[in-house]
Parts: sequence; C-alpha cells; structure tokens
Amino acid sequence: MKASDLLNIAGEHGAPVYVYDSNTIQSQYKRLTKAFGGVSNLRLNYAAKALSNLSILRLMHSLGSGLDTVSIQEVKLGLMAGFQPESIIYTPNGVSLEEIEEAAALGVQINIDNLSILEQFGSKHPDIPVCIRINPHVMAGGNTNISVGHIDSKFGISIHQIPHLLRIVALTNMNINGIHMHTGSDILDIDVFLYASEILFETAKNFKELEFIDFGSGFKVPYKNGDIETNIEEFGKKLTARFNDFCKEYGRDLTLAFEPGKFLVSQAGYFLAKVNVVKQTTSTVFAGIDSGFNHLIRPMLYGAAHEITNLSNPKGKERYYSVVGYICETDTFGSNRRINEISEGDVLCFRNAGAYCFTMASNYNSRYRPAEVLWHNGQAHLIRQRETFDDILKNQVDPKGLFANKKEQVGVK
Ligand SMILES: *Cc1c(COP(=O)(O)O)cnc(C)c1O
Repeated sequence: MKASDLLNIAGEHGAPVYVYDSNTIQSQYKRLTKAFGGVSNLRLNYAAKALSNLSILRLMHSLGSGLDTVSIQEVKLGLMAGFQPESIIYTPNGVSLEEIEEAAALGVQINIDNLSILEQFGSKHPDIPVCIRINPHVMAGGNTNISVGHIDSKFGISIHQIPHLLRIVALTNMNINGIHMHTGSDILDIDVFLYASEILFETAKNFKELEFIDFGSGFKVPYKNGDIETNIEEFGKKLTARFNDFCKEYGRDLTLAFEPGKFLVSQAGYFLAKVNVVKQTTSTVFAGIDSGFNHLIRPMLYGAAHEITNLSNPKGKERYYSVVGYICETDTFGSNRRINEISEGDVLCFRNAGAYCFTMASNYNSRYRPAEVLWHNGQAHLIRQRETFDDILKNQVDPKGLFANKKEQVGVK
C-alpha cells in the first residue's frame, strides 16, 4: 500500500485505525502454498486469534484456507464466515470438557492436549475422531543447539506420556485421526524444527488411522531491520521431502497441516494514530499519540519492535523521538526512534500491525477500541466501526436504587 492511501484512510475513517492490505495476505498465503507445493495434500489452517475480523476470515476462506481456533467463540466466528465444520480445527488449552463437547457437536475437528480430558472425552464419545497435541520437548537453545527442555510448558501431551496415552486410546476404543505440535516458539533454525518433526513422525507410527499431521506454526516474520525471517522456501523443500518419505513408510498419503497466524497477516497490517503532543523534556523528545497499550500492547507485553514512520512529513528531517501513548501508565511504543520530524496532528504509522494487535485491544482507561479497514482492490472498506460511549456502557448493570439517594452520606453535594 502507498503512504498516500494510508493517509487518505486516516482522513476518511479517522484515527486511530487499523488497516489491512488483502494483497499482502494473499501473497503470503501463496508463498506458503508454493513452498509446500511438493506435498499432495496440504492444509493451511489460519490461526484466527491473530486477527479475527469476519472479513479477514472470509478472505482466508476464499483463498482456500482452513481455520485454527482456540475457543468456542472463534469456532462460531469461523462458521459464520462460511468455513465448513470439517475445515475448522479446535485446539484449546485448559478449557472444560463441556466446551470441547460443544465444539464437537458443531462438527469441527477436536484437538486434545491433556490426558485427563482425552480419557473423559474418549469414554463418552469413542466414535468422534480426535487429534492429539504432542509436546516434543524440543526448543532451540540460543544458537544452533538443540536442547531437549521445555518441560515447563503447559501445552501438549508430553512424549514421555505416550504409553499412558496409548492405554487410554486402547481402553476407550477411540479413533486418533491426527497428531499435532505447536511449540509456540519461532522457527529460527530449520534443523531444530525438523528434529522436533522426527519426534512427531515417531509418535505417528503408534496410530494406524491417521489422516493428518499438523506441524503448528512458528513462522517468523521480520519486525525490524536485521531480524531473522524463517526461510520458508528452504524449510518447505526439506520438510516436504521428509514428509513424503514418511508417508511411504506409513503406507498412506497423509495431509500435512500448518496453522500460520503471524506469517499470513502481520505484514499486511498498519496501525495509524495521530500525534496529540510533542513534549520536549530534559532527557528526550516525546511524541504522545492518540492511542496506548489499549490498542497495541505488543511493544509493552513482548518488547516487540514495530517500525514507526511519520506519514504526514515523509521528507522531514530525521530526529530522535520516544513515541508514547496516553494511558496513565508507562506505555512506550518505541524509544529513541529516528523518525521524520513530527508535528502535533501528524499521522504516525506502525508497521507489522496485522497479527495480535487489534485482537489484543481493550477498553482500558475507558477508551474506545479503534476502527478496522480492509484495503482490497484499491479500495478502503470499513470492516469494524470505532466503538462509541454506548459500547463502554453496554454490559454494565445499574441495579436500580442501589446507591440512589445516598449522596448526603458520602458528602457529595
Ligand atoms: C497461536 C497459535 C498459532 C499461530 O501462531 P503464529 O505464531 O501466529 O503463527 C498456531 N497454532 C496454535 C495452536 C496457536 O495457539
């Protein structure tokens, strides 16, 4: 997208606003499919939690994607967006048996990540096929070391519990149709990921009725200059070769599944916010924007470095700024960033604002969540209105008379 398109959107729809470029999403989707072009059955299940606006889900559906969901609400959004239940996988962690049963009743693929629920679910519904989430206990240790750690993770069924798992499956007579891992960490080193995949293949041999193997996600995208990006093309080539060999060994063509979130939507997103105040202090120049961690929490939560540019003065002299929000807590988006000279009223643009940005927004400080706009075929489409004061009040209940007529007691005139 051009800077002028973004500025026009801020003018037309106001700021703060999130803007998503459908073109970037489409090309990322194509890139991933192409990298795994050598697999007969590939399934990409877009991880809805990254960006769950219905229009984005519909876009993913139109590209041929499936959906990865982590809550019953995401399942319902997926169904509303037009996904068939069979193309939705439900991968929750720490949810109740009741919620899993509700999802199963809607016909979506269930993925279970602990033995207690597996045993209960299998005993009650032996006829419903289930995928199991494995924790291979592999993570990249610093550089290229492979450390078999990650024991503390709350996700997945430990590979050390496979004997117990197999007993549950045999005793309940349930059908395991998929195995899954999602370590949650970035794929920085392809060999580490392939090592974890070997553990998954080894585990897979225990099940005769598999339909798919789901390798989760972890595709890394660059946030700032010098950041490592997963080499998708190399990764695709290597895993495809190994996967096809495994299918021969297994005796059946399985589906290779992934659940990318960030990879598909991060770079498609822009967050635009106006500068309220430029404040020179003894130590720095602050650019205070009309936003805060109520709209974009990744810099504060994860130390994420979102590139910040000044759309209003692209040719201005570069100066150092600390870009901060309006929340009554420390909410620094970036310290000592070189940005084209900022004046009050300028529109700043945060890059890589597609994934885990709007979906993590809140009403903290009783502020409104921003609008969302989809840029598609050269046109801006509003896909979520900015909230209003009614949204702040919507679910508040004011029990009649609870504190009425008590002004005198608390001394309020
Ligand atoms: C969050 C999540 C993903 C997506 O991860 P990204 O890093 O955004 O690609 C995939 N699978 C599961 C189970 C998840 O919880």
